[in-house]
Amino acid sequence: MTDTLTQDWKSQLTNQKAIYLFEEGDAKMRDILGGKGANLAEMTRLGFPVPPGFTVTTEVCNVYLNAGNKFPASMQDELKTAIAAIEKKMDKGFGSRQNPLLVSVRSGAKFSMPGMMDTVLNLGLNDETVQGLIEISKDERFAYDAYRRFIMMFSDVVMGLSKHEFDKLLQKKKKELNITEDSLIPAAALKELVGEFKAKFKAEANREFPNDVFEQLSLSVEAVFRSWRNPRAMVYRDKEKIAHDLGTAVTVQSMVFGNMGDDCGTGVAFTRDYNTGAKVPVGDYLTNAQGEDVVAGIRTPKPLDALSKEAPEMWKQLLEVSGNLETHFKEMQDMEFTIEKGKLWMLQTRTGKRTAAAAIKIASDMVTEKLISREDAVLRVAPSQLDQLLHPSIPIEAKKAAHAAGRYLAKGTGAAPGAACGKVVFEANDAVEEAAKGHPVILVRPETTPDDAHGMAVAKGILTSTGGPSSHAALVARGWGIPCIVGCEALRIDLDKKKVTVNDQTFGEGEWLTFDGGTGEVYLGHTELQEASELTEETKLLLGWADEFRKLGVYANADTPKDAERARAFGATGVGLCRTEHMFMERDRLPIVQEMILSAAKAEGLHREEFRAQRELSEQVEGNRRHTDAQTALAAVTAKKAGPWKIYTDNLAKLLPIQRADFHGILKAMSGHWVIIRLLDPPLHEFLPAHSELLVDVARLRTVRDHAPDAYNKVLDEIRQRREEPNATLDSIEDMLQRVEAMKEFNPMLGLRVCRLGIVYPEIYKMQVKAIFEAACDLVKEGIDARPEVMIPGVGTVEEMKFTRNLVETAAKEVQDRRGIQVKHKIGTMIELPRATVVAGELAKNADFFSFGTNDLTQTTFGYSRDDAAGTFIPVYLEEKILKNDPFQVIDTVGVGRLMRLAVEEGRASNPDLEVGICGEHGGEPESVAFCHTLGLNYVSCSPFRVPIARLAAAHAALAGQASFKDK
Ligand code: PEP
Ligand code: MG
Repeated sequence: MTDTLTQDWKSQLTNQKAIYLFEEGDAKMRDILGGKGANLAEMTRLGFPVPPGFTVTTEVCNVYLNAGNKFPASMQDELKTAIAAIEKKMDKGFGSRQNPLLVSVRSGAKFSMPGMMDTVLNLGLNDETVQGLIEISKDERFAYDAYRRFIMMFSDVVMGLSKHEFDKLLQKKKKELNITEDSLIPAAALKELVGEFKAKFKAEANREFPNDVFEQLSLSVEAVFRSWRNPRAMVYRDKEKIAHDLGTAVTVQSMVFGNMGDDCGTGVAFTRDYNTGAKVPVGDYLTNAQGEDVVAGIRTPKPLDALSKEAPEMWKQLLEVSGNLETHFKEMQDMEFTIEKGKLWMLQTRTGKRTAAAAIKIASDMVTEKLISREDAVLRVAPSQLDQLLHPSIPIEAKKAAHAAGRYLAKGTGAAPGAACGKVVFEANDAVEEAAKGHPVILVRPETTPDDAHGMAVAKGILTSTGGPSSHAALVARGWGIPCIVGCEALRIDLDKKKVTVNDQTFGEGEWLTFDGGTGEVYLGHTELQEASELTEETKLLLGWADEFRKLGVYANADTPKDAERARAFGATGVGLCRTEHMFMERDRLPIVQEMILSAAKAEGLHREEFRAQRELSEQVEGNRRHTDAQTALAAVTAKKAGPWKIYTDNLAKLLPIQRADFHGILKAMSGHWVIIRLLDPPLHEFLPAHSELLVDVARLRTVRDHAPDAYNKVLDEIRQRREEPNATLDSIEDMLQRVEAMKEFNPMLGLRVCRLGIVYPEIYKMQVKAIFEAACDLVKEGIDARPEVMIPGVGTVEEMKFTRNLVETAAKEVQDRRGIQVKHKIGTMIELPRATVVAGELAKNADFFSFGTNDLTQTTFGYSRDDAAGTFIPVYLEEKILKNDPFQVIDTVGVGRLMRLAVEEGRASNPDLEVGICGEHGGEPESVAFCHTLGLNYVSCSPFRVPIARLAAAHAALAGQASFKDK
């Protein structure tokens, strides 16, 4: 199609070899033969019934793409030689009028990318060879059907013409004949269609349809190479983190036909149940059909075991072959097969995608079956998959209520587990748009195609009205852990009107839908979903093995006793971050907190003034005038301080028992384990009413007061209700506005927060330390092993560390002395500023532990606002490949990671006992966990729901030295 490449290109290939016949390869050659090519080679080598063929390597694809889509000239001869080998085995001729060989041309990358790249079937047909096919098959209808399918696929895939145009001709023909099923179109009409398709091809492509079968072949191979870079494949690779430079191999294989009559068929079989992991073969098949009909979801297939009744001999053979394949690969297999006139052919085998629950069951069963080791079992389950296990579910009562209220709609096939609740969208682009606004969406379609991948990726759930468990929607959803129902045939979807009718009910775009991807039940309306709280016994077993292999500890970020209990149930052995501010936010406490904050500046300011006045007085000689003046000044400031100080300390005193009770709960839930409690961190305005809201309320009240006095009380009432302040007045709101204004900062994230807050307002930190140690003393007295670690946030200088450490030690000692109880404890700091990493050696002399706050460390290292980046430039940076990952999700090992390494090395050099962990969001992200392993951290800490993921990721890191599951 384009210029050819004539320069020396073979030197870029391993062994200078561009093509491997199936019998020349094996399963280990995935890098160059792709997963499909390598496994076909392996099956051929082992004597399984595989139609002969060959594979053009991924290296040739890369040569082609890197040269700007130039096909090497000498590839034509290479293809001819390889085809000759198939001709010989099949005793057929490519392009032969008497006995034509037809082939399929299929993509096959190293990692499976279901349906993302292109395929051409029935290649080798032209006006001559179709006659041969008629004679051999003795079925004119079949031959012309194959021919018209080929022209359509070739036009679409190879020439990039619109499939829709060809489909319109097909539909027109059916309408003329007054039939609805493709399979009912008679031979003569199909023959006419072939003519019409070719005319269409000529009009659109400005050339005749190629009759030369070798031209057909080389153009198709090129097209498959190019499909490596089509947008949907790019989206898929981004999502699956597959490198973009691997290239695809192309497999050319002799065609066998599942559509030559009722003794033919085609299907997909899995050696075990991909939903539950049970050791029973599952899958689906269609009688008298070609392979794509199953995958495309156009016809709803029959369950695999129906074959046992319809064709018992085929069933027996299939079970034998699939059993042998599983034993050979020691892995659950997903196979494509075709039955041609009573003969079974295997077209593909690969590792089957499965739900997390199934992955765990299969891995542990295979250990019992002595197929694999415990290490293998642990490595077989991808950490990110565990997320699915902790999917929410629809509470039983909510299901009952939905049934009672007539909101139950229909039942389809549960294809990927988990409950989903979201607003209905019908188009992938709409899904993306709505999701970007933060709306949960359910993508509802008759079926999905690879073009929908971007919309599927952002959906909370996917629901299709056709297709079986091997359809595109099901495969992709399972792979991505998105709840999915397929084949929900009761839904009549009108994409134009964006409406769905189910029996006598209808719903449309934007309406809420809830479904259960495990059972297949669909409900109208919004449902509060229930978080998962338990791990299954199988999961516990597998994670138990993971625990034996991992070196990293796994803690949880938990702010409440309930979080701490859940974290323990998920296997956390400590709390790595208890954010005390969340306790401040609770509704009943907020008014106390607000009063305390609003009085803090004045009280602490006057307290400082008093201190300075005392110092001044102490420097004067008693009896002289200056002494008398200093005495007067001190008395004045003490008097001035009394009021604000009382409000400030009274409110702190009210908060003390509340905080003590919180700490008591968490320390108790984590008895015997360390609990890292961070002193107050966020800027104080976060606890106060929003400045903009106050401004609007004041402006409204002033305006109505002056211009519509009759409405004043009504507006005031409305404002009081919204503010939940029944006694608010314009004066009180104005007063609040002024006080909030006085505390306003231009850059609060870089302002009065973290340890700076504790240094400027030390009474707050003292109260918190007191609460921690009083709670711990109470517990020790009860015989409970309470172990607090007090963590100081945002330290950047050694002086800050010394000041705050001293403050904590003094307050802690006061409580322990008063109670006569010693509490095991540590005092340390977060490392979340670049400066802290640089002076880590000095900091470590004053700290028992470091905990990397990688949220802030990423923010301050990059200079990206963590609150704004994701909504502004990060998506563009990812698209333009300026960033490989969002650094707030996956640790930037090059920059942030290097600073972390520096801090670990210098910190441990000056304090060999230093405990080092991480408590930023990255602590539960598998790649980042692997990096923490390589840094030699003591633990990672993450949200309770990510604890199982972190446990497994830590084991992967320890076992493999890296957490990439894909290489397995
Ligand atoms: C961090 O910065 O990584 C951290 C854990 O603290 P926060 O997210 O509360 O700022
Ligand atoms: Mg932080």
